Amino acid sequence: MGKISVKLRGKKAAIERELTDFCKKYNFPIKDVQFSFEGLKSELQLELAQNIKKSVVTKYVLGAFCADTQWQFYHFSKLQKWEGIYLNKDFFVVLAKFRSDFEKINYFEWIKYLESINKEEDSYMLASKLDRSTERENLDSYRKALFEFGQTTCFYCGKKLSENAVDHFIPWSFVKDDKLWNFVLACPSCNSKKSDKLATQAFLSNIRLRNEKLAQMNHPLVKKEFKTYSFTKLSLMYSNAIFNGFQSGWSPEKILPLKSS
Ligand SMILES: [Zn+2]
Repeated sequence: MGKISVKLRGKKAAIERELTDFCKKYNFPIKDVQFSFEGLKSELQLELAQNIKKSVVTKYVLGAFCADTQWQFYHFSKLQKWEGIYLNKDFFVVLAKFRSDFEKINYFEWIKYLESINKEEDSYMLASKLDRSTERENLDSYRKALFEFGQTTCFYCGKKLSENAVDHFIPWSFVKDDKLWNFVLACPSCNSKKSDKLATQAFLSNIRLRNEKLAQMNHPLVKKEFKTYSFTKLSLMYSNAIFNGFQSGWSPEKILPLKSS
């Protein structure tokens, strides 16, 4: 929870009221209080967490959410043609918006479980193993194809590629899929610095042009991978990733000017 500060002004939110009541009860100075949650004695930590859960989270957060959705998070399809589950719109928005947080909670529970049944040495780096568990290992075919198709400079900084790394333009952790139209070649430095971020809008325009050229290649891999491609879809994925909390606006510090080829 880290540092907790209470600012006293106007009408207070429920959580502010809870914190000031807590301070009053234990004689902490009330004016613009700052204290560290971790610095509290464990009984006090527990008391504060329980108070907040009871009076704030249950009543206002879950309460408001359940009221908005009328407690109906999903229903089953009534149509004969298609059997499935329909998610309530508000529920869906919450799931989408906090997707990466839900994923982390999920991983955390998985880690706790796996650690309980595995030997200590197998449990090492479990978080990163789980995070990448569904990632396809071999991206060599994509790397080779892009290089053959004439991408010989880093997509981001323009440096001539000696060793090239294949980069998911929209982070793999968001799309969870490997498609040629989402791959670019990047130098090791850009590849590691960009990591799970999204590049700036300018690069979105660049990948649009790159894909237009690529789509015209007469090559089995391109034909297969571009069957369902459209720039609208790529662009929608890009904004959805931002909506889902992925950091955007990444750009290398230095970009070499494009050489006419
Ligand atoms: Zn680069």
